[in-house]
Amino acid sequence: MTKKAVVVSDTKSEMEMTIVAVSDSSLFRAPVQKPSSVGYRTISRKKLPHCGGGGINTWVDIMRASSPTHYKSNISSQDHLNSWMLRHPSALNMFEQITKASIGKQIVMFLDYDGTLSPIVDDPDRAFMSDAMRATVRKLARYFPTAIVSGRCTDKVYNFVRLAELYYAGSHGMDIKGPSKGSQYKKTAQSVLCQPATKFLPMIKEVYKTLLDKTKSTPGAKVENNKFCLSVHFRCVEEKKWSELAQKVRSVLKDYPKLQLTQGRMVLEIRPTIKWDKGKAVEFLLESLGYTNFTDVFPVYIGDDRTDEDAFKVLTERGQGLGILVSKTPKETNASYSLREPSEVMKFLQLLVDWKQFNIIPTQLITYA
Ligand SMILES: [Mg+2]
Repeated sequence: MTKKAVVVSDTKSEMEMTIVAVSDSSLFRAPVQKPSSVGYRTISRKKLPHCGGGGINTWVDIMRASSPTHYKSNISSQDHLNSWMLRHPSALNMFEQITKASIGKQIVMFLDYDGTLSPIVDDPDRAFMSDAMRATVRKLARYFPTAIVSGRCTDKVYNFVRLAELYYAGSHGMDIKGPSKGSQYKKTAQSVLCQPATKFLPMIKEVYKTLLDKTKSTPGAKVENNKFCLSVHFRCVEEKKWSELAQKVRSVLKDYPKLQLTQGRMVLEIRPTIKWDKGKAVEFLLESLGYTNFTDVFPVYIGDDRTDEDAFKVLTERGQGLGILVSKTPKETNASYSLREPSEVMKFLQLLVDWKQFNIIPTQLITYA
């Protein structure tokens, strides 16, 4: 990938990208470390269905596995949590080690939105971030180039965050825009940096309308148009209706082989079968910011979802920076560290600001149990 190949202006409607078939094996990534405890629910990659295949029961199994209720019921003891925490320690407790590892390098921050900066709520249109979180992210962006990387469309996530000085990579990185103002880290005059799936827009619009119609008889189902991808939220759908809902979504997608179905946190996601994800978005942004040299940059990615694993894996493979998973319960992950919830994310971001601004290492000041 080169920056030249993917930078487009606002007015260009389409760009050519190689369309690749996405195999089942790439839908959900295998963990770097497989936990030994029996408390995990593991979905074999071999069983994972593409939108054109696989049994409906398998999809329902995956939907159940992503449910917070099921996470709770599947984790039987504190021992499992302790074992997981040894492999993915709290980024708060490891703050000193993290900052030491970044010495001499530019930290670049990548933040997922839902479940990372804002709490997961029943109505996705009301996933607001707190004023305190916004103020913290604003301070963070003064000291470090900062990007929001979200499954939502860029305009929607911008309306939640409302900070013009950030980079935004919406639609799982398929719509990347630079800071509109107020950032010392802006490297290019273009506002739109990358839209690799533009040619899919008419198809996605069509499928959105069909899905709205097909799912309206399922109480609680909500279809969200994220411009370059679609989300079917099922967090408000009764569990006994999940099978029916998955079947409806699959019946729509069988006519669209260039779209693929993946699973997020209580959401089914439909996106183009181009080889582009949050990990590619991270690589693109690092290059856009001029950090092609592996030794001078320290990317930190914080996210809570399966789709964030693509970004964690990129950092692991590049041997660069680190990933932090936001989760209260053990999950298979490529992230190195963990934080329990958005309030801990805010603490971590504030520590980074204090460290940069006042050169404070807080380990003597604060103890996180
Ligand atoms: Mg998320």
